[in-house]
Amino acid sequence: MGATTVHSPALTYFSMLSLLSLCPPFVILLWYTMVHADGSVVQTWNFLKQHGLQGFLEIWPRPSAIAWKLIFVYGAFEAALQLILPGKRVEGPISPTGHRPVYKANGMAAYFVTLVTYISLWWFEIFNPSVVYDHLGEIYSALIFGSLIFCVLLYIKGHVAPSSTDSGSSGNLIIDFYWGMELYPRIGKSFDIKVFTNCRFGMMSWAVLAITYCIKQYEANGKVSDSMLVNTTLMLVYVTKFFWWEAGYWNTMDIAHDRAGFYICWGCLVWVPSIYTSPGMYLVNHPVNLGTQLALYILVAGILCIYINYDCDRQRQEFRRTNGKCKIWGKAPSKIEATYTTTSGETKTSLLLTSGWWGLARHFHYVPEILASFFWTVPALFNHFLPYFYVVYLTILLIDRAKRDDDRCRSKYGKYWKLYCNKVPYKIIPGIY
Ligand code: NDP
Repeated sequence: MGATTVHSPALTYFSMLSLLSLCPPFVILLWYTMVHADGSVVQTWNFLKQHGLQGFLEIWPRPSAIAWKLIFVYGAFEAALQLILPGKRVEGPISPTGHRPVYKANGMAAYFVTLVTYISLWWFEIFNPSVVYDHLGEIYSALIFGSLIFCVLLYIKGHVAPSSTDSGSSGNLIIDFYWGMELYPRIGKSFDIKVFTNCRFGMMSWAVLAITYCIKQYEANGKVSDSMLVNTTLMLVYVTKFFWWEAGYWNTMDIAHDRAGFYICWGCLVWVPSIYTSPGMYLVNHPVNLGTQLALYILVAGILCIYINYDCDRQRQEFRRTNGKCKIWGKAPSKIEATYTTTSGETKTSLLLTSGWWGLARHFHYVPEILASFFWTVPALFNHFLPYFYVVYLTILLIDRAKRDDDRCRSKYGKYWKLYCNKVPYKIIPGIY
């Protein structure tokens, strides 16, 4: 089975080389700018202009023993929770080879245990989360190298010990490494590697670091600013929503279509803990005072966006789960019955919802996703651009994702997808794009 639903080899080489060569230094520069250069890109730029490559190498922290220890303890704790905590048996969607992965849905329990444990360690003065902030550069440095090795191991596993039939080589080493070999790699029967990398390590680290930044500001100033409170609350609401809906995430592109390779795994292990959390990282030493009224407006707007994003996902999944026998905005749903053929030659049918949120645009759910990220960044106000990097990056990512998803669905559903595009002509923003 080839990686036929992704970009062309030329684009893959280009994006892989860019990702490999630009993302690691970017993570370090972003951390350096936020923590040591007042969040000012100009200040970092002047430093680099003055000190050149040597200066850059000097600011790149070496992965220290404490960084490895923190990563290892956190990773082992999350892996243990994934294995041990009870959860409902959940089936994922049928794969192109007709295989259906089975999961234990214990994400919310793992999230709860993680946050309670982390806050208790601080509260009872057993471990101070400020230590994580103080070693953040070394942690990112260790994650950059450690995750690369992890991806090499995934590649080797895909060759010598694939976990299921949803695996195989495209015949091109670079594409295999970049896009991955296996759709559902596991250790043993039940330890799902993508659930670990994407959810329990990546997404969980987002919440853990949001709390870390908040505590660090408190430890440094003796109080937490309202801007930090709004940022941390919105990020926590977002991550809580994610774990509440984690089994739904197992039906999305990340899990059901993107294989476990450098693109998705390195992204979740390094990019999520560093870039996704960066507005909070900025606020630690930039405690803006918004005033109660403005803080509340931003908070409510952010929560509303997170809710709408959640409701879009929920609507699609409820519609699929009930086979279209549900109410969408109080009415029977309008739909298209789309047939397609699996790689094993079987003919199957999927329902495409064409009313509710999914009737506004084919990827309308990305609008509230982007707006929510704006609302948890805007407490930083507009003194510097860098806190907004995630919002800009997310916008580009989701525009690309809408294209990738459309291409994939067009090749899967053919004329039925065309019918859907005629009925719902806009990709993301109704009436505009
Ligand atoms: P989904 O995978 O949830 O939805 C797209 C899939 O749904 C398509 O591949 C298709 O799959 C099916 N589908 C498409 N149109 C319809 C329709 N009209 N009716 C029913 N099914 C349809 O999307 P994403 O993975 O992109 O997003 C999931 C969530 O993750 C969103 O909330 C998004 O905002 C968020 N997200 C966040 C990111 C971040 O970095 N912060 C990045 C990406 C996503 P099928 O083959 O089953 O038909």
